[in-house]
Amino acid sequence: MDFKGYDLSNESEEIVPIGSLNHLSTKYESLDYEVIENELYREEEQKKGYRYVVQKDFSRWMTFFWIGVTIAFIGIIIFISIEIGTTFKFNMIKKYFDGCTEADCMVKPYFVALLLNLIPSLVGSCLIVYVEPMAKGSGIPAVKCFLNGIKVPRLIRLKTLVVKVIGVTCVALGGMWGGKEGPMIHAGSIVAAGVSQGKSTTFNKDLGALNFFREDHEKRDFVSGGAAAGIAAAFGAPVGGLLFSLEEGASFWNQALTWRTFFGSMVSMFTLHSVLSAYHGHPGDLTYKGLLNFGKFDDLSYHILDIPVFVLMGIVGGLTGALFCHLNLKLFIFRKRYVNKDWKKVLEVLIVCATTVTISFLLILFTSDCKKLGLDPTDHPIQFGCNDGEFNAMAALWFQLLEGTVRSLFHDTPDVFNTTTVVYFCICAYFITLWTYGVHFSGGVLIPGLCTGAAWGRLVGRAVFHFFPNTNIGIYSLIGAASQLGGITRMTISLTIILVEATGSITFGLPLMICLMTAKWVGDFFSESIYDTQIELSGMPLLAWDPPPLSSNIYANNLMTHPVITFKTKETVGNIVKILKRYSHNGFPVIEYVQNYELDEGKTKCYLRGLILRSQLIVLLENKVFDGPLTNYWDSVTMETFREDYPRYSSIEDIELLQNDLKLTIDLSRFMNPSPYIVQHTMSLPRVFKLFRAMGLRHIVVVNDSNEVAGIVTRKDLARYKVIRHMGKISVTELKFSSK
Ligand code: ATP
Repeated sequence: MDFKGYDLSNESEEIVPIGSLNHLSTKYESLDYEVIENELYREEEQKKGYRYVVQKDFSRWMTFFWIGVTIAFIGIIIFISIEIGTTFKFNMIKKYFDGCTEADCMVKPYFVALLLNLIPSLVGSCLIVYVEPMAKGSGIPAVKCFLNGIKVPRLIRLKTLVVKVIGVTCVALGGMWGGKEGPMIHAGSIVAAGVSQGKSTTFNKDLGALNFFREDHEKRDFVSGGAAAGIAAAFGAPVGGLLFSLEEGASFWNQALTWRTFFGSMVSMFTLHSVLSAYHGHPGDLTYKGLLNFGKFDDLSYHILDIPVFVLMGIVGGLTGALFCHLNLKLFIFRKRYVNKDWKKVLEVLIVCATTVTISFLLILFTSDCKKLGLDPTDHPIQFGCNDGEFNAMAALWFQLLEGTVRSLFHDTPDVFNTTTVVYFCICAYFITLWTYGVHFSGGVLIPGLCTGAAWGRLVGRAVFHFFPNTNIGIYSLIGAASQLGGITRMTISLTIILVEATGSITFGLPLMICLMTAKWVGDFFSESIYDTQIELSGMPLLAWDPPPLSSNIYANNLMTHPVITFKTKETVGNIVKILKRYSHNGFPVIEYVQNYELDEGKTKCYLRGLILRSQLIVLLENKVFDGPLTNYWDSVTMETFREDYPRYSSIEDIELLQNDLKLTIDLSRFMNPSPYIVQHTMSLPRVFKLFRAMGLRHIVVVNDSNEVAGIVTRKDLARYKVIRHMGKISVTELKFSSK
């Protein structure tokens, strides 16, 4: 066999400057969402019959049920630990603050607060930096990539889940500006991936159940359900969860999956609500108000004349969101350059934590906003700087959980906070959120974003209130929150519904949608969303929803790699090992050389017979499924043989073969995918792209006019064409490969 062909190591890899958004990393592989209907698959299907179909379907529903229950219990553990921990912390701070009304006695409470915040932050960041960096941040960009079809290493491991759960609790206890809602999405995805497989690779334990789900496309469906269940638990928003999976993640969707995802989300939310309502002393009351994340708005009436104001707020959200993404990118570059050692990463978290505490104390010290007790929006009112019978309103904003602060900004009457208090809080909130997002901790941007927006929204509300005293300023606070978060994340459908569900106010769907769409359009005009920026920085080959515009003049033969590394239907073990060692590709067309005297005057043509994956070849080599009198293991090889090793297959270097084995052959026709998706070399990029994305493919074989193998197209070939939208201009650029 002729081995000339594409070798990734020869590819012109560029040195990528730090912070470049224009590179594709070659280290990410794809998931295989295609069902390989080979002989073994067909045999299994025939043998098992309809009973198997029903059993599989029933197991699917049950698995979604258990995913819902498990993620709810994880949520309960997180919520209760945070509640107990923060109650202790705020009580301690209050204890040291009590009786302290002048600046000179502030030192003690300051150091107590500093210590109580730094300890959990240290634990949380050490876990991320030294134990499992994959648990960093919210995990939403990585989950989005997984659902798009990218294999993200260590994303759905048990270790990642444990670190995430502890990490997110530490973030809240450490008073850092990170939400637990994003991490709950990631946690939901891990739970789904774990529960659905019936085995734990970490513990090397196989329950021997659910092995029919050990395939990428099954796992993907469960993961999208798990992400939705995570949102349902975090926000109490099952429909929002479902829509999030649809909007942000899934590249493939069907009616049955919608139902099951919704079912899992409902189970998750109601399990969480049942337990938490009992925990809060209202057993059985699933409509208990305290379960709503952001409190229930009693009156959300609005007038048509409010709509232009909402649009303006959407514009502000879009602009500040775009600025946020831009500055965050600059911070990323700074961090890559200067915060590049593990100890520096931990130190940065501690500095951010200490700065947050210091800012809160300075604001409390320098603003005197005293309100009568009874108006207090917090369980831990602090008197500092105020007379007896009063509390410090600035302290009330800082000394509670972020969700509580958002609730206060939404619902407290206009006279609870002075305008200057909210202005200072808002400015600090924006910059703290900006600095905090990206440090090595396990928190998301959803709640800090909402909190910042709720603050400036409240200011708009106050201005309107000044002219129209009947105005409910909570409405503006809610719109501000939505606009700000919309401007940062560019989520539209799902965020609208999440906020509707989390506030229990369906009538307010329209204004929310209007401001979110405005924020998205304005934000998109200037920059990518924060999640997409993260994805681009990592170089993950994410396939967008649509092919690049005006690309019909790019054809499959411009996209494809040629010549292709192929195998013959009957291939020698030696050749297989040699190719697998030499090339890192994961899919190889299987071809047959045919001489056709009738049509082609005896010319040899190479026809496509199928496609075989590296993982399949590894299993065949490992099990020595070779042709020959002594080594014919054909009958013992079934679909189960391939599922056993899923998802972690050995590397070719680990397979031990005898010298004699190398001379034997393997008949690949029984194991290969006999009908892979093929396209003509003249097919345009948009058509190839749509086929690839819609079917969740990993490889497309390109054939020439006489149906011979001409090339191969993978995710990286398609993701290479990136659409750049900047200041209203659209252009398409070709990304460079990098090994980063
Ligand atoms: P993935 O990384 O998406 O899981 P893969 O590993 O099979 O799939 P890559 O090796 O990442 O594909 O592909 C990198 C480049 O190599 C792409 O440009 C692709 O077209 C090319 N390529 C993939 N498979 C082959 C092959 N069998 N022969 C020649 N080139 C290939």
